[in-house]
Amino acid sequence: MEQRIDRIKKQLHSQSYKLTPQREATVRVLLEHEDDHLSAEDVYMLVKEKYPEIGLATVYRTLELLTELKVVDKINFGDGVSRYDLRQEGADHFHHHLVCLECGAVDEIQEDLLGDVEKIVEKRWNFEIKDHRLTFHGICYRCRT
Ligand SMILES: [Zn+2]
Ligand SMILES: [Zn+2]
Ligand SMILES: [Zn+2]
Repeated sequence: MEQRIDRIKKQLHSQSYKLTPQREATVRVLLEHEDDHLSAEDVYMLVKEKYPEIGLATVYRTLELLTELKVVDKINFGDGVSRYDLRQEGADHFHHHLVCLECGAVDEIQEDLLGDVEKIVEKRWNFEIKDHRLTFHGICYRCRT
């Protein structure tokens, strides 16, 4: 945890941003809830437990900054809510999601698995792929048993 915060701090510094206590509190909440896909309001409620005086706008601006610096990715599972997801360190491309239509669980696939597809797309459409969002909609293993 501390090491990751340290690396994120350096990432901010390299872009001449400071990891203020409020920004750090936001990053900590994201790290503590790494497997969740929190909305700005969710993050705000959790940060507020430690920093009662923090405002939603501050949390929102921090999340936008972290998105810009590619520390987090902003995603939307089709319910109109933007969620913030920590990017895996060292991953070139974003991870995939499995969204269960019955219980709403969101599981992650950390392997890219798209190498062949990416090659075909780059060749056939002469398109340089920088990233992708892949969400599978279906029934999760919990609901299938
Ligand atoms: Zn995710
Ligand atoms: Zn990929
Ligand atoms: Zn399910």
